[in-house]
Amino acid sequence: MSAKRKFKRVILKLSGEALAGEKGYGIDPVTVDSIAGQIQAVRESGLDVAIVNGGGNIWRGLSGSSKGMDRATADYMGMLATVINSLALQDALENRGVPTRVQTAIEMRQIAEPYIRRRAVRHLEKGRVVIFAAGTGNPYFSTDTTAALRAAEIEADAILMAKKGVDGVYDSDPKKNPEAKKFDHLEYLEVIQKNLGVMDSTAISLCMDNDIPIVVFNIDRPGNIAKVAAGEEIGTVVGGL
Ligand code: UDP
Repeated sequence: MSAKRKFKRVILKLSGEALAGEKGYGIDPVTVDSIAGQIQAVRESGLDVAIVNGGGNIWRGLSGSSKGMDRATADYMGMLATVINSLALQDALENRGVPTRVQTAIEMRQIAEPYIRRRAVRHLEKGRVVIFAAGTGNPYFSTDTTAALRAAEIEADAILMAKKGVDGVYDSDPKKNPEAKKFDHLEYLEVIQKNLGVMDSTAISLCMDNDIPIVVFNIDRPGNIAKVAAGEEIGTVVGGL
């Protein structure tokens, strides 16, 4: 690996949980503001920053369908949850004076722009943060896959994959196994074959086919987003940088 990676444009993938704070559900404004502050620092360092956030702090399609709901309906509810999170993040960023646009894959003109790839790229070129909401717009997908798809579309240099409670990818659960070993680097196929749970297999495959590196890091430590964006070798890198 090179001493310092150079990124020009990144996608930050935040799980819905990352916005929930200690409670583990819903939106905690203090936590959202702290994340917004970290994103602001990255943006002000000159990087183009786009964000995909999940919705798991509000609703996950699979948990609805496992209780008998129609899967597509439950997934659309999940996509709407990501829009709520995106608006919270936009609000926190704009409170800090960071111009931010939300683009949604499901049209809702009153609250966000529709997703238009060329327009998203233009926003980034103008120094705005862009948040991609409502996933891919399709049920049966995840926001990890959304991050991979949008990263390919906007030609991002990497996906910065923020995780809560863990500082990279391990060969077993470090909370249960004190002997668990952290990987510094992994190949895409290893992630799938060893079932390491970095992303779902659809998302990993898309990253592999389009040579998009993924950096998995811990978001609990303040300042880590800026560190990983600046190329510090923390966490685990999947694919080549
Ligand atoms: N979702 C979907 N299609 C997409 C993206 C998301 O149907 O393209 C739904 C799916 O139900 C998912 C929910 O939105 O469970 C929230 O996203 P995700 O579970 O990826 O959020 P995270 O785990 O990152 O909080």
